[in-house]
Amino acid sequence: MTTTEDTPLFYHVAHDSAYQHPYTWAYRYEPSLSERGTRCDVCGLGDVFVTGAYPRFPLSAAVEGGWRYPDVLGSGEYPLLIVSEAMVEDWVQDGITGYNAYPLTIVRASCAAIRRQTPPQYFHIEVTGRCQLDTEAMGLSVVYNCPKCGYVEKEPAFNTPFIIRRDSWDGTDLFVSDLSKGVTFCTDRVRALAEKRKWTNVRFVLPERYWDLDNDDCLTEKTISNTARHRDVQHSATKASDDSHERRTGSEARSPEQTRLDL
Ligand SMILES: [Zn+2]
Repeated sequence: MTTTEDTPLFYHVAHDSAYQHPYTWAYRYEPSLSERGTRCDVCGLGDVFVTGAYPRFPLSAAVEGGWRYPDVLGSGEYPLLIVSEAMVEDWVQDGITGYNAYPLTIVRASCAAIRRQTPPQYFHIEVTGRCQLDTEAMGLSVVYNCPKCGYVEKEPAFNTPFIIRRDSWDGTDLFVSDLSKGVTFCTDRVRALAEKRKWTNVRFVLPERYWDLDNDDCLTEKTISNTARHRDVQHSATKASDDSHERRTGSEARSPEQTRLDL
């Protein structure tokens, strides 16, 4: 067990489009990813592309709603992490690790307010960093994991807090678990860079609290600079997973002195 000071902070990082309505949203890819992929011939459940399980090629997208382009673009058709070119440049400049970036170009906008603007170049992000989840502490059983497309069937399928096995983290700044490749985790370096460069429509949530629908402890573009309390919360969550397998939920691992952020 490392000390609190030595324990790196991890977050789940994603777009904030469910809460940030000024921002437009990619509602489909053109052509759609389902058209560009084929059904996996091993499990018959997931999709595979000519490049493998991840679409390692440029994409085009159509957007709808909102009146501003964000740095982190929400997407509906397929849960890709999509970020602006400026954000990727920040990552390159600061040596952020654990990803490959492929161009994603906006080719259509369905409402006038956003159509009048020149969209930024976006990139969709294949996260290459890896960690393993503490499935025992999470109370999670893996029913099936396809070796070809990565399709995962879990029990329960939802509502288990993400508890990262810290000894399995490969040291990258952006990382996923093979059991949840659509859920991107990141280090506090990424959160600090978001604060420094004022990325828009970004949301950081403690992995242990990913499924808390009433989560009042997230960090957004408005409230991104409060890490001391997060360190306390996350440390107590780590202790909870280490100390007792009976304490399996993020809510049980909350620090009692946590306070509501002004969202
Ligand atoms: Zn498969």
